[in-house]
Amino acid sequence: MAKAYSCMIRTGVTGGQMTADQFLVEMDLADKYGEGTLRLTTRQAIQLHGVLKQNLQRTIHEISKIKLDTYAACGDVNRNVMCNPVPYKNNPVLEQMQEMTKAIAAHLRPRSTAYFELWVEDPDGHKENVAEFQPVEEPIYGATYLPRKFKIGVALPEDNHVDIMTQDIGLLAIVENDAVVGYDMYVGGGMGRTPAKKETYPALGKPLAFLAPGEVCAVAEAVVKVQRDFGNREDRKVARMKYLVDKWGIEKFREKVVEYYGQSLSPVRGVKVTGVDDYMGWREQGDGKLFVGINIENGRIKDEGDLRIKTGLRAVVEKYKMPVHLTALQSMILCDIDPADKDDIASMLKEHGIKTAEEYTISRRFSMACPALPMCGLAVTESERVMPDLMSQIEAEMAKYDLQEELISVHMTGCPNGCARPYTPDIGLVGKAVNKYTMFLGGNAEGTRLGFIFQDMVKFEDVAPTLSPIFAYFKAEREGKESFGDFCNRKGLEDLTEKVSSAA
Ligand code: SF4
Repeated sequence: MAKAYSCMIRTGVTGGQMTADQFLVEMDLADKYGEGTLRLTTRQAIQLHGVLKQNLQRTIHEISKIKLDTYAACGDVNRNVMCNPVPYKNNPVLEQMQEMTKAIAAHLRPRSTAYFELWVEDPDGHKENVAEFQPVEEPIYGATYLPRKFKIGVALPEDNHVDIMTQDIGLLAIVENDAVVGYDMYVGGGMGRTPAKKETYPALGKPLAFLAPGEVCAVAEAVVKVQRDFGNREDRKVARMKYLVDKWGIEKFREKVVEYYGQSLSPVRGVKVTGVDDYMGWREQGDGKLFVGINIENGRIKDEGDLRIKTGLRAVVEKYKMPVHLTALQSMILCDIDPADKDDIASMLKEHGIKTAEEYTISRRFSMACPALPMCGLAVTESERVMPDLMSQIEAEMAKYDLQEELISVHMTGCPNGCARPYTPDIGLVGKAVNKYTMFLGGNAEGTRLGFIFQDMVKFEDVAPTLSPIFAYFKAEREGKESFGDFCNRKGLEDLTEKVSSAA
């Protein structure tokens, strides 16, 4: 008997913005061809898990009918481009950023039409969106595409929602008089590491240049081409652009980008990242309407017991047909809500067991986990399935020291690839072996600093007890409003280790 292959299909959603119909069709496809759940990813995309091989083409074809696609959502090309998805209206800055996000995504999209021939043409004769296949030159990717995947994000200094420092290219909008005058471009961020290979590591982006909006696509293209031509093609473990940037140093990398771009570059303005928002709860949009951010724990839209997220969201979105925006924290925003409908929507959500933002701790709202077991073939241990329990344990320890109102971000992954960006939050937990994790401390929710390895091979059941004495220490010796990550960074490995040992 032939093997039954089960696959994951990822739909790219540029800048996280979807229509109601697109969201509803993705939910339908999860029921029809997937395993019944929908997953919002850490990069504002949507994943359908458990799609059987024989249903791949039909599923991708149906996604194409709603004007979305899976093209370049995976592979060694530029992936889904991320941007702050908050739907504030009459806000030219956010509009300019979303326009820039779309322009970059279009500019760096592969040109081959083979994808459409292979996946979109329909046995039933549906031809919409199907370009006739012609062998085409790839002006940016060439014959061999890139050595490795490539990620881009666009953010604001006061709201680094998409974690730009963790991306191959991060763009920080520089705003003057309510308009984006340009972007500081950072290059060479990336999360993955392989513990057995010392030459691999997570990295934050380095400052490349300040760019006027009109320069961004061309310079991004030059950066991509430099990685295409000089990135490591011998060893995929060190093929991400961060290794090239570090091997050369940012000066030499910049010189090469200038050569490819053909013009000089201005130094970055050096504006600092100062904050981050999760957009949860009810807020005014700025045009008389409201939006509501709904926390989806670990991005999994499903019904389980009294918590019927899938049925509840379907009911609300079918009734009100509002646009749906995806956040970089695996959650979602229902937009364009008439204030007169607020009570009805709130009660529909409540009826289905969907909690309000206020019913979650701020730490849980900022927590993230990758799918890991049983969905991901690279997972060495659990992540998504144990994260709600882990957060309950961590919350209980925080409450002992009256820290429940604090934002302590926790990201967890089932392997060191780092899909849930575990190397930058206050607490990072990275699967190392079955039921064991490497614990990182000292990052922050704003994503501007890498954590350090605090302990290795921590058993799942020991994670919260290990953190407990550090929470106590933080409570006793924090300076002013210092965050937990800043505190751990200030105290350092040795001091924190001593504190934990003396508490044992
Ligand atoms: Fe899979 Fe590892 Fe990514 Fe988690 S971090 S989804 S286990 S590759």
